[in-house]
Amino acid sequence: MSPEKSIFSKIIDREIPATFIHEDEKCIVINDINPKARVHLLIIPKKPIATLFDLTPDDKDVMGHMMLLLPQIAQSQGLDGFKTQINTGESGGQEVFHIHIHLLGQ
Ligand code: 5GP
Repeated sequence: MSPEKSIFSKIIDREIPATFIHEDEKCIVINDINPKARVHLLIIPKKPIATLFDLTPDDKDVMGHMMLLLPQIAQSQGLDGFKTQINTGESGGQEVFHIHIHLLGQ
């Protein structure tokens, strides 16, 4: 039985709505539904990797891609500085088990 589709995969597949800031062949960037800062974005790979613990060497490209995208997205939002966070595992505060980078800026 295949694992249940994550809420982020449903957003990627347009099954539930979200405000898209960016989309390319590897990832999407959306507004967090419950923002903790003036700008609170989520950078999400299209590949449904559950947590950082599940990464394999095949994922270097997509992870590097998202890291390179962060400053570009931040600048597009008028930020000259920002915070990032990747919650990992239940004890790391992760609620959605599909890797995502929080981008927060004031
Ligand atoms: P985590 O705790 O897993 O690192 O963060 C999950 C984040 O996803 C939370 O900040 C939460 O507000 C956000 N989130 C949860 N469900 C949705 C949703 O349906 N749409 C959007 N845009 N964000 C969501």
